[in-house]
Amino acid sequence: MIPKLTADQLKDFISQRMRMSHIYQPVMLKTLIDNDGEASVEDVSKALLSYDQSQVEYYSLRTKNMVGKVLANNGVVEPVKTRNKIVGYRLNTDDLTEPQRAALTALCDHSIEDYISKRGASIWGHRGPDSGYVSGSIRYQVLKRASYRCELCGAHEDQIALHVDHIIPRVKGGPDDLSNFQALCMTCNTNKRDTDDTDFRGVLDSYNDREDGCIFCDLGAGRITGENELCVAVKDAFPVTEHHTLVIPKRHVVDYFDLYQTERNAIDAMLHQQRQNIMDKDETVTGFNVGINAGKSAGQTVFHVHVHLIPRRDGDVAKPRGGVRGVIPTRQSY
Ligand code: AMP
Ligand code: ZN
Repeated sequence: MIPKLTADQLKDFISQRMRMSHIYQPVMLKTLIDNDGEASVEDVSKALLSYDQSQVEYYSLRTKNMVGKVLANNGVVEPVKTRNKIVGYRLNTDDLTEPQRAALTALCDHSIEDYISKRGASIWGHRGPDSGYVSGSIRYQVLKRASYRCELCGAHEDQIALHVDHIIPRVKGGPDDLSNFQALCMTCNTNKRDTDDTDFRGVLDSYNDREDGCIFCDLGAGRITGENELCVAVKDAFPVTEHHTLVIPKRHVVDYFDLYQTERNAIDAMLHQQRQNIMDKDETVTGFNVGINAGKSAGQTVFHVHVHLIPRRDGDVAKPRGGVRGVIPTRQSY
């Protein structure tokens, strides 16, 4: 048996010895203290949840965009506003007596229990990816690939909870391949789903943008050497060196700097994959130039973004020094 702590020793622990890497310890201790010294794991989790602003934000949006609107449209509640902003809701009724309150609460409890027993856990499906389940291992791999950051806004997992989500939703035919997953923070993910003027829904639709007559929008399937959800790889038709490859976003975008972060991620993954393929099949390759011509003055000739992956070999030119600096030939070497 470990010796019992006195209140003073607990006080000493909390105020002097507790080394915090998050708020978890004091929240757990507070829950235990509030519950006469013992609490279930679920109670501790719920206590933690109540401090998680990202969860609160998520349900604030749900309240305002969904349930608040429905109840207000039915004349059951009215919004409480401060400077035109909804800050709360008021039940649209005169004072209720205690028995009336008890009866109405019991009715709500009944509706909640009834709904949960009919629908089961699927009612929380909106908190996961569109289609439901993402396995733990996919989640881990996607988060690792994203360096535990939201792939849209860059927020770190320590700042806000991250969701692993399909890029092209399952309902729209998106596969369960690793290439079709992205890590999004709660805010980006929520905005993507729930707002009307959604940037992100626009982003999803725009992944399908193609331009008539653009050679990179209309690459024959036979020429594609690699593909993920948002980009493809093809062999350059006029290769600078053998295995010169182009990585091209599927969406028709003229300029590299107009790509979405998700597309840059997809392109980056494809560059790694193509580089590995090239090295696997050609042992003479000893280096690469990776380059983008952005704009006519920089030499762009096909106005649909493409990243050149140019294998290099020892001795392929007499003076390789300076590499891409060679875009201005006289300044290549320094
Ligand atoms: P740039 O726009 O200057 O970055 O260069 C366009 C690149 O696309 C060049 O390296 C061309 O060799 C290559 N290219 C042009 N037409 C095709 C095509 N139909 N398929 C594959 N590569 C092409
Ligand atoms: Zn195009």
